[in-house]
Amino acid sequence: MTPHTALVGLEVVAAVGTVGALTVLVAPYGRHARSGWGPPLSGRAAWLLMESPAVFGFTAVYFAGDHATDAVPLGLLAIWLTHYVHRGVVYPLRMRTAAPMPVVVVAAGFVFNVLNAWINARWISHLARYPPGWWLDPRFVVGVLVFVVGWVINRDSDERLRRLRTGDDRGYHVPSGGLYRWVSCPNYLGELLEWAGWALATWSWAGFAFFVYTAANLVPRAASHHRWYRATFPDYPQERRALVPGVW
Ligand code: NDP
Repeated sequence: MTPHTALVGLEVVAAVGTVGALTVLVAPYGRHARSGWGPPLSGRAAWLLMESPAVFGFTAVYFAGDHATDAVPLGLLAIWLTHYVHRGVVYPLRMRTAAPMPVVVVAAGFVFNVLNAWINARWISHLARYPPGWWLDPRFVVGVLVFVVGWVINRDSDERLRRLRTGDDRGYHVPSGGLYRWVSCPNYLGELLEWAGWALATWSWAGFAFFVYTAANLVPRAASHHRWYRATFPDYPQERRALVPGVW
């Protein structure tokens, strides 16, 4: 077994552990923050630090690959960075009111991002052999379309949350518009679509492992958010589901 295969397997195992842990406890940040989880970092510092391997580590590993200057890997790099330059740099820098995050959660996110950045960057720029015509392969075309739809949903939904607070408001309000008409966590739905699209476009176990881990993390959290909204706002829209419009 190669080190890459072993680390992809490790990420899937971590996903199983994560979904197991998150069915018995809620990750203690944001509205679910509580005491007993050690010292916190500011929300902005937490996100900048936690996501930095996905921006800088990924780019460094990518350019160490033998095929880093080939067109298809460069296209995949652009897709990855379209998401992560926003999530790892722009999103934290625009934060005004995000809740602090315990250092232990930041550390877990950082370690995950190191692993995930390595397996995905190493795959696309070194281990994979994408033919020059990969741009027209249905897996790439459909994968990119799914990624773009997810990216638009994720960005729109995060932006709607951001606009719920003005000034120094740190409170929670019922979000509306966009996919909030149908679900409580469209930002998570968008994120899941993005990495499903990535798995398809890269046609890789590394991409698949990332999607599985994202689902392991965000599906239980969407359930927790949804329960919290219903318990907190008596007039919360009854027809609104947790994550998948009309289904769940
Ligand atoms: P949340 O939806 O819990 O919160 C996003 C931001 O909006 C926070 O600043 C939060 O404030 C604020 N907010 C949320 N709901 C409300 C509300 N009802 N009223 C006012 N403000 C609100 O998302 P996360 O923080 O968990 O995630 C942020 C982004 O990162 C998402 O796009 C998500 O998809 C992505 N992500 C990806 C992961 C992955 O595995 N790939 C893992 C985790 C996140 P506060 O901090 O005070 O709660």
